[in-house]
Amino acid sequence: MRPELLNPAFTPIERLKGCGPKLAALIAKLAGGRLLDLWWHKPSGLVDRRYRPKIIEAQPGRICTLDITVERHLPPRNPRQPYKIIVSDETGSLTLVFFNGRADYLNRALPPGEQRVISGQFELFDGMAQMTHPDRIGTAEEVEKLAAIEPVYPLTAGLTPRVLAKLIDEALERLPDLPEWLDPALQAREHWPSWREAVRKLHRPQEADDLEPPAPHRTRLAYDELLANQLALLLVRRRLKRRAGRPLKGDGRLRDALLKRLPWPLTNAQTMAVAEIAGDMASDHRMLRLLQGDVGSGKTMVALMAMLAAVEAGAQAALMAPTEILARQHAAGLRPHVEALGLKLVLLTGRDKGKARAALLESLASGEAHMVVGTHALFQDDVAFHDLGLAVIDEQHRFGVGQRLLLSGKGEAADMLVMTATPIPRTLSLTAYGDMDVSKLTEKPPGREPVDTRVVASDRMLEVVAAVKRKIEAGERVYWVCPLVEESEVSDLAAAAERHAALREALEPALGPVIGLVHGQMPAADKDAAMEAFLRGDTKLLVATTVIEVGVDVPEATLIVIEHAERFGLAQLHQLRGRVGRGGRPGACILMYHGKPGETARARLKILRETDDGFRLAEEDLRLRGAGELLGTRQSGLPDFKLADLAHDGDLLAMARDDARLILERDADLSDARGQALRHLLYLFERDAAIQYLRSG
Ligand code: ADP
Ligand code: MG
Repeated sequence: MRPELLNPAFTPIERLKGCGPKLAALIAKLAGGRLLDLWWHKPSGLVDRRYRPKIIEAQPGRICTLDITVERHLPPRNPRQPYKIIVSDETGSLTLVFFNGRADYLNRALPPGEQRVISGQFELFDGMAQMTHPDRIGTAEEVEKLAAIEPVYPLTAGLTPRVLAKLIDEALERLPDLPEWLDPALQAREHWPSWREAVRKLHRPQEADDLEPPAPHRTRLAYDELLANQLALLLVRRRLKRRAGRPLKGDGRLRDALLKRLPWPLTNAQTMAVAEIAGDMASDHRMLRLLQGDVGSGKTMVALMAMLAAVEAGAQAALMAPTEILARQHAAGLRPHVEALGLKLVLLTGRDKGKARAALLESLASGEAHMVVGTHALFQDDVAFHDLGLAVIDEQHRFGVGQRLLLSGKGEAADMLVMTATPIPRTLSLTAYGDMDVSKLTEKPPGREPVDTRVVASDRMLEVVAAVKRKIEAGERVYWVCPLVEESEVSDLAAAAERHAALREALEPALGPVIGLVHGQMPAADKDAAMEAFLRGDTKLLVATTVIEVGVDVPEATLIVIEHAERFGLAQLHQLRGRVGRGGRPGACILMYHGKPGETARARLKILRETDDGFRLAEEDLRLRGAGELLGTRQSGLPDFKLADLAHDGDLLAMARDDARLILERDADLSDARGQALRHLLYLFERDAAIQYLRSG
């Protein structure tokens, strides 16, 4: 049960004074719907109103707070013109400009002949001093009461800064005083304020440095968040490991038979990974291993070897993919091998219904099926195994920690292998997986040429379309990836649909109906149909949002065009270009950028052209990701931190990990005073799913 002290945190913002449902909906879209979301809604800048010059000295472009006398009102002659008011001090005069200004309000706020204080951006317009819509207007006393330095918050259309600031102030008044969960020595050494003080300071910046990660209150909050993350992961991991494993030791007969069948030898990296995995499986500890390998490094074969080892030992093996398309592809790729070895592999997805599904389930429960490939459908309660020995999870960063547990719960002490193609830097992998054992495929099968990567400005669209046409005429296939739109998936869709229509218009008169479309919002069946049409060659050009990102394998695809390449993370672009050139023919990638790319964007694209090493790209991505540049965590499924910034907080993360370990060593159930405080922390950062493992474990 959530500690009562935390009730305010989860109170809906609608309970705040002056927050109706409409406003609440706007804020929910921007930050979230609970007071806690307002606490975490950190300012992106500040306005300093301490500059109080005379009119004659005021610097254009700066925020000025001015003591003025109201001279006269100049109401507009027609409604399209602004309402103007002339004000002055002893050094000069200034025109205030109000668009759609209401005379009654302005006469009340700025009565002619009266003294007032105004604050806003000072401008020179045709040499005349001017201020458009002052932010503050009031008597001297009223203005003195307001803070001279105000935070500036990220906003959304329809929400004004003042309304948001007021609600945040109200939310801050309800900050509870929570028991301290930090180690007192650490807190003293780092000069960190209490949590409550830190949240307050977050919203009361006094200088620009207060907004930056090194400020003590920000560091503390980032540390809190990372500590919650690391504690939760450790709890989950401990839970997984606690259930003793069982030794799964095969005799190698199926694996040998597979190797004889394969037209090529395993790479050294594959052989090593297979040996590491087999070693884990044979031990009586439970395996929890991450297999990291760049696109095309051959992870699937490693997985198959591991699955065969499980079957040799008399157990079953499951492979779970994040999408229907991938599950089908895996099943289609593995089945010939598996059947040649005299084994049975079944495919289970959300689309299997009724009798067919019942038959599939029966084959798993009876042990008649040795292997299953599937999607989330594998989690369902009625899926039971005869004896699940190994669960392999592909592209696993798309699944949450909880889902991983669910699958492993299907097998008594099933070993677990998780595979990811996103080469995740150590810092990120720690936050996503905690300390897992890691096997890396550092080498790719020989003979694979790097993808020829070009950077092209969007005004050369016609040339790009011509290149696409040539490819299709040569019998090859092309992906066209549409921009990632940050705020909404609906706009993702609009962009892709629009491009699809334009390309059809440009190409189909010459080529016929060869252009398909696939996007994340399509029903799963339509998505698969579109992918399958492309796989078969019924369509030759596939316009897509990033749903093709993971794992899809179409050997004939030789060109990928990526629009708005500047909006993707490096690792993501690398994944995307890994989709082409898989069938022996060299692949090409055209990165289109729109507008003038910033320096960071240019540096990123340059690195992408220079290297084909996914691990290096991921590290660079993290290093280069300056403020505002998007890594693409939303797409990657990596934890999305509210306060920690992994580009800066790598050291903090290591500290938090060590801290979390020590905490659980000393107080495994979080039951002493500090443990109780830490439970607050887990709830506060919504990592409380891990708390159940304290009790049940
Ligand atoms: P990924 O790691 O991206 O999942 P895959 O497992 O899909 O990579 O393998 C990519 C391609 O390389 C597949 O067509 C696979 O058959 C092939 N492959 C895997 N291992 C080898 C190898 N040792 N030698 C040659 N080709 C291989
Ligand atoms: Mg794969």
